Amino acid sequence: MTLEYTSVDEIPDIVAGLHKTFNSGLTKPLKYRKDQLRRLYDLLEENESLLVKALYDDLRKPEAESLCAEIALPKEEILFFLKNLDEFSKPEKLKPRFMVSALDKVQVRHDPLGVVLIMGAWNYPIQLFLLPLIGAIAAGNTVLIKPSEIAVHTAVLLTSLLPRYLDQSSYRVVNGGVPETTRLLELRFDHICYTGNGVVGKIVMTAAAKHLTSVTLELGGKSPAIIADDVDIQVVANRVCFGKYYNCGQTCVGVDYVLIPESKLEPFLAAIQKSITNFFGENPKSSDAFARIIADRHFSRLVGMIENRTSGRIVAGGQHDKTERYIAPTVIAGIEDEKDPLLTEEIFGPILPVIAVKDVDAAIKYVNARDTPLVLYLFAKSSKIINKVLDNTRSGGVTVNDTMMNCQELNLPFGGAGASGIGSYHGHTSWLTFTHSRATLIRDLSLESAQVMIKYPPYSAKQIQV
Ligand code: NAD
Repeated sequence: MTLEYTSVDEIPDIVAGLHKTFNSGLTKPLKYRKDQLRRLYDLLEENESLLVKALYDDLRKPEAESLCAEIALPKEEILFFLKNLDEFSKPEKLKPRFMVSALDKVQVRHDPLGVVLIMGAWNYPIQLFLLPLIGAIAAGNTVLIKPSEIAVHTAVLLTSLLPRYLDQSSYRVVNGGVPETTRLLELRFDHICYTGNGVVGKIVMTAAAKHLTSVTLELGGKSPAIIADDVDIQVVANRVCFGKYYNCGQTCVGVDYVLIPESKLEPFLAAIQKSITNFFGENPKSSDAFARIIADRHFSRLVGMIENRTSGRIVAGGQHDKTERYIAPTVIAGIEDEKDPLLTEEIFGPILPVIAVKDVDAAIKYVNARDTPLVLYLFAKSSKIINKVLDNTRSGGVTVNDTMMNCQELNLPFGGAGASGIGSYHGHTSWLTFTHSRATLIRDLSLESAQVMIKYPPYSAKQIQV
């Protein structure tokens, strides 16, 4: 299957059309926004099997993972906005601070931003395309969506479905690779929401700066799981196993590596092997619960990580098959070379380095010596240890005693910090991200004599005292 790229020459007209629609006010009425959201819900409801199939064709994504992470979450987000949009849209009334504003209406309006560009990544090609789109529609913007060209089947399907459900004058899709995206980024948007790697994140932010356009950058990095010595190791292994091998490890919030006290290393290695077998059977290649690597480039990169390392022993997995882009759930312990890519680069595949450290303090030190992760996972019973780790580390988000669950709780803001991203979205945070909080003060035209007395020049001695 091939994805037809948008002609570079057409792109400026598409963007100009979206500005024109926004300026016409078409997307502002709440009724219009809700109507578009309902249609998007219908798209998901009526095309579920096609969407699941496209994800299977791109990533051999297990049906349960597609239904849960790619379809159920956007549906829930649409219902959330349909329920709350009236309330969110009311100006927020604030108490005036000074007597001089006592009779004024002091409010924060939440106005649409204008034309929003959303750039998605290939690993959750529906969720990462739809969740920001839902927030941007609810907020009253017009939107240009640039799906990842790497998840071809899903991009082709969404490109054909979207115009059948959404108003084409307000929401458009542009497809392409680097030349098309580069052209897009030369144009002016009112906000850009980009999901993907940090190298391209910098390109996006540099382009946005030329127009002083605000950005939300949803990036990646190495999310650690710190394990304390007071937890049930099999429970931890199950939860790490889930958060590592979901979508074949191609999850921005997946566990990248484990930091564990030396005394618990061997029990953990035995436990995670048990979890792998329980989840995927003796031969994970034949499991329908285990996805595949998206593209040859990523397959070669990951196999290189396993084969070119100079230290460390393979505790589980290690097998691979290029014809299917299959890499077995792999666990590697004892990597000694600190410059090993497994320890320095985001893995984004089914390989789990397990690093033994002296204790939780050493784990905190290890994490703090590196880029700020998107998520930090911690397994501990003692509230003293939990608070110590939370108080002494930085990350976009945290889940204690599980993996990945903070990003499916749509009431929590989702986003990185430092190298893992700028800004956040999901739920009410999406509302704030895709609207402008407009400071509004409405005065009365009466009581001019009071203004003359307290505000205007020439200033009296009494005014100076104030
Ligand atoms: P990708 O290759 O699909 O790229 C993302 C987008 O950037 C695409 O739309 C692509 O067309 C565009 N792009 C690529 N090269 C470009 C260039 N030179 N100029 C302009 N645009 C360009 O996805 P990826 O970057 O491989 O995604 C994986 C990364 O994304 C990982 O680091 C992962 O952690 C991160 N990620 C983060 C989140 C999050 O929500 N924080 C979610 C998913 C993935």
